[in-house]
Amino acid sequence: MGKNDRIDRFGIDSMTEAEYNKKQEYVLKSCKCAGCPTYVKGDAPTGYCFPLIGTSKKIQWEKDCVCGTCAMYKEYDLAHTHYCTRCSDTCQTIKTEGLGGQGGSG
Ligand code: SF4
Ligand code: SF4
Repeated sequence: MGKNDRIDRFGIDSMTEAEYNKKQEYVLKSCKCAGCPTYVKGDAPTGYCFPLIGTSKKIQWEKDCVCGTCAMYKEYDLAHTHYCTRCSDTCQTIKTEGLGGQGGSG
C-alpha cells in the first residue's frame, strides 16, 4: 500500500463523481453514527469518516465513538475516531502526520 492509499483509504482520488456518489451511498448504508451517544438527532448526512462529507453542523460534544464497531471501519482500515467533530479519516491523517505540505522529506 502506497503512502497515498494510506491517506486516501477510500480511494476517492481516482473516482469519477458517479463512483464517489455510489461509494458514499455504500458507506451511509453501514454507518452506525445514528446509534452513537455523540450523535445529535436529525444531523445528516452521516458517514463523517468519508472525505468531503464534512463535520457535523449540530454535534458539539464528543461522547463515545462507535466507529470501531462499524463494518466500514474494518473494510477501509480506518485509523481515527470522532469524525463528526474532528473531520474525515483522510483529513485527520493529514493533520496528525503533518502531510499537508507538498514535497517534504517524505
Ligand atoms: S466509520 Fe463511523 S462515520 Fe464512518 S460510516 Fe462507520 S460509523 Fe459512520
Ligand atoms: S463519527 Fe463517531 S463519535 Fe461521531 S457520531 Fe459517528 S460514531 Fe459517533
